[in-house]
Amino acid sequence: MWTAFVLTLYPEMFPGPLGASIAGTALANGLWALETRDIRDHGLGRHRAVDDTPAGGGPGMVLRADVLAASLDAGNSPDDPRPRLLLSPRGETLTQKMARDFAAGPGLILVCGRFEGVDERAIEARGLREISIGDYILSGGEIAALTLLDACVRLLPGVMGKPNSGDDESFERGLLEYPHYTRPRDWEGRTIPEALLSGDHARIARWRREQAETLTKARRPDLWKAHEEK
Ligand code: SAH
Repeated sequence: MWTAFVLTLYPEMFPGPLGASIAGTALANGLWALETRDIRDHGLGRHRAVDDTPAGGGPGMVLRADVLAASLDAGNSPDDPRPRLLLSPRGETLTQKMARDFAAGPGLILVCGRFEGVDERAIEARGLREISIGDYILSGGEIAALTLLDACVRLLPGVMGKPNSGDDESFERGLLEYPHYTRPRDWEGRTIPEALLSGDHARIARWRREQAETLTKARRPDLWKAHEEK
């Protein structure tokens, strides 16, 4: 089974929102599994210290390499096939393609950072791949891990209602998604675009395609450029 193993100082944050809705139902039905380890179990001394002051000075604290490595080594054999990721604002930015690749694999080992960050030596020595969820700073890696997991879990076989319900979505084809409408047909004087009511499947597909292209050009010139170059 696709299993996520999360190392965190806040195991109580999991499954959190992933215990509800699509991901939660899938978790309850055994379509994926989630395990957590409290990094503090490997903390040092009576107070189970996990952090220390930054070498070279400066604000904040740093998650210790020895503590994090002990936590990783306790549960995961070196030949565990799952990618080992560190949620980190310095990492590669998460994309839909990455979520697809991770969902197609055996699961993930996720390390949630806290404080100013993680001692660089642990990242190097344990071969952690750094993944960011965007160019902003969160107070810890947990919400980033939940985000990454949600993006992966909904792609696992059997998790989403219709097997193809993800195919048209934003990013899946390098374009943003077309606009949606539902009943009522007339709402506050606004109607549903004529093409969608035509019953003509080819026309509907053409309309959606045009809308997706127009939106992508206007809102995400970067995506449009990449799409045209494909
Ligand atoms: N001092 C660091 C930020 C530390 S934030 C810097 O300037 O780069 C504390 C922790 O939150 C990080 O170790 C990381 O695990 C997590 N985090 C913060 N922002 C994130 C983001 N955009 N994506 C993924 N993880 C993030």
